Amino acid sequence: MYGGFSDAILIAFISMVITLGFRYDEVGLSPEVFQDKELLVNIVLFFLVASVIGYLIKVHREQHYRNLKMNEELERAYHQLSASHDQLQSYTGVIEKMNQEMELLAITDELTMLYNYRYFQLILEKELKRNKYSCLSLIMLDIDHFKKYNDRYGHTMGNRILAEIARIMKENVRDADTVVRYGGEEFGVVLPSTETEEAFRVAERIRQAVDNFVFNCPDGTPTKVTVSLGIACFPWDSENKSELISHADLALYKAKQTGRNKVCIYVDDNLEG
Ligand code: GH3
Ligand code: MG
Ligand code: MG
Repeated sequence: MYGGFSDAILIAFISMVITLGFRYDEVGLSPEVFQDKELLVNIVLFFLVASVIGYLIKVHREQHYRNLKMNEELERAYHQLSASHDQLQSYTGVIEKMNQEMELLAITDELTMLYNYRYFQLILEKELKRNKYSCLSLIMLDIDHFKKYNDRYGHTMGNRILAEIARIMKENVRDADTVVRYGGEEFGVVLPSTETEEAFRVAERIRQAVDNFVFNCPDGTPTKVTVSLGIACFPWDSENKSELISHADLALYKAKQTGRNKVCIYVDDNLEG
């Protein structure tokens, strides 16, 4: 802290000794040297100037130390801040991931892992808007005599059948199609840009795949399940979302009425198998 001041005094002292040395060379060592007023004034001036310079150096050094300390503190604060920023970013990542998972949970049926009724309404609306100048087909599927399986083998087996049928449906649709669990033992398939004939082919493929699948019951006995399906197509036989759903439902009802394990297409008031 006092380094600057003492440096200056030292310089003044050395200068004084040098001056005295020159004077000594001129007159030799005698009391005259110390009686020389000019020399004494010079020495006092040396000390005064040295004091001022020393003071300035001292102030400068103190300022320099303060700056160094401030820089250190700033650097520490910067590191702390960037660590907090990193942590905040990782928290944001976790929250974003949790939000995505929550959003997915809100539209997923946990038994079958298919999209649920809520998503069905959303995707159908979205696809109808997107396919405004094109067409869109809807398949509705219902398991035949499902109550019988529940009653005979229990609810757990019933749940396994539901999950298995969901898997079979997903395996037999195209990438662009969306399979949903409409509710209970009813499912839906949204087929964008698809005419009735193509939707019929997809529905028939699902029906056959379920018909060919052998379910193993808890007691080990193999059993078979069949499904009935109904098809409606926008805009040819349905003008809007609710009409499309109710027409596909009517076609499904017709399939049930005319023997089950079959696909029916909605045609105005006259349903065809
Ligand atoms: P249909 O051929 O006319 O469709 O006859 P069904 O027996 O399939 O129809 P019904 O409407 O009489 O019975 C549907 C059954 O589906 C009744 C209900 O207990 C069962 N069910 C609905 N949701 C679930 C579920 O999440 N798990 C199980 N195990 N059963 C369910
Ligand atoms: Mg039903
Ligand atoms: Mg049923």
